[in-house]
Amino acid sequence: MPRISPITIYTWPRAVLHIDGDAFFASCEQAIHPELKGKPVITGKERNIVASMSYEAKALGIRRAISIWEAKKICPNVVIVPSDYETYSLISKRMFSVMRRFTPTVEESSIDEGYADLTGLRRLYRTSYSEIAKQIKHQIETELDIPVSAGLSLTKTLAKLASKYRKPRGFTSVPGDVIHHFLKEIPICEVCGIGPNTTALLKKKGVFWALDYVQKNESWVKQYLGKIGGELWNELRGEPIYPLVPEAKTTYDSISKTKTFSPPTHHYEHLKARLYRNVESAFIKLRRYRLSAKRFTVYLREQDFKDYGIQSDLNRATPSPQEAFPLIETMLQELYRPNVLYRQTGIVLSRLQEDRGLQFELFEDPVRMVSLHRLARSIDEINARYGKHTVHSGMELYLKPGTIGENGRNTIPLRKTTLLYGETARQRLSFPMVQIKV
Ligand SMILES: [Mg+2]
Repeated sequence: MPRISPITIYTWPRAVLHIDGDAFFASCEQAIHPELKGKPVITGKERNIVASMSYEAKALGIRRAISIWEAKKICPNVVIVPSDYETYSLISKRMFSVMRRFTPTVEESSIDEGYADLTGLRRLYRTSYSEIAKQIKHQIETELDIPVSAGLSLTKTLAKLASKYRKPRGFTSVPGDVIHHFLKEIPICEVCGIGPNTTALLKKKGVFWALDYVQKNESWVKQYLGKIGGELWNELRGEPIYPLVPEAKTTYDSISKTKTFSPPTHHYEHLKARLYRNVESAFIKLRRYRLSAKRFTVYLREQDFKDYGIQSDLNRATPSPQEAFPLIETMLQELYRPNVLYRQTGIVLSRLQEDRGLQFELFEDPVRMVSLHRLARSIDEINARYGKHTVHSGMELYLKPGTIGENGRNTIPLRKTTLLYGETARQRLSFPMVQIKV
């Protein structure tokens, strides 16, 4: 057998991890209904078409997009459930939040797939990239009770091929110096971005395996396959062309946060505390997307469900709630009527723009502005480490248990106080967590 020369001798100039949920929707169903584990399960009952099937169903020959009727013919005992996208997206969110615990650079490419940039983390975790990747995979599988496959390599294209290499629950690591061995086993049609027509063309030219492809020179590839062909050629050789896009959604028209509370209240201070909590949550999200807001809408919902709102603009957009609080308080005072019972507060941030750091207006106190912005950033850092709202405005002390809420009923239910690592009360509330191991 002829010896193949390596494409590169460098093992980890970069480390990109690709995580891919195995039979994701069906696995979510098995996670929240443990009695379905080990059974053939298909989702898609509502459309009468198989949307996803468990590995047990796959093993029997059930495929995606066939009719439920056909699936039943293949296996009369198959468990058919309607799609529950809300649950799937909650589990998906939790999967990405596990990844983000290890690195902030995470790209959500679909509901069950994402990339994480691990470059430079070996020193932080004092272990190899492979070990970090395995830890992330293990953490997702044990916390969420769903199987995932993981691929680790130098570029997104290679990492995705690696995660597909062994499934389900597979882990494949392809450092730079073995790329050539790996590509020798990958049929060219498996490469993401190479469709059936391109595959047919490449086969005519004697290119059957990904290795054949990268051994052509770049100008040959560009001549036959154009720009994208060239990009894939580089990616497959371990040269990153496609960057990770860390946020799934970066363009927001507005960000809003509301909170309904029970029982309704007519206490001004309590309402203000509720509203300030909404405002801080909205700003946390705003800063996560590196945006700032110029327009603020405050609204109150009365006990009989009537809403009253008021809108106002600051002179310029800000990423700091402290800068917006005086305006928001004025708006609240405008809206508030002492003898009315309120059941909800809300804030909408709009006229959002990219946060480009500070630009001072005339007559402004630059020292104060800089310190407000620094404060906001430090709050984000502390909250990222110790949990959302660890640091909050003093006003919100009105929301702590033991303080007079309404009729002394402002106590936190047990389910909110027993959180798992990485959870917040809100995420936990909406998540059908059944596999808590005590
Ligand atoms: Mg998948």
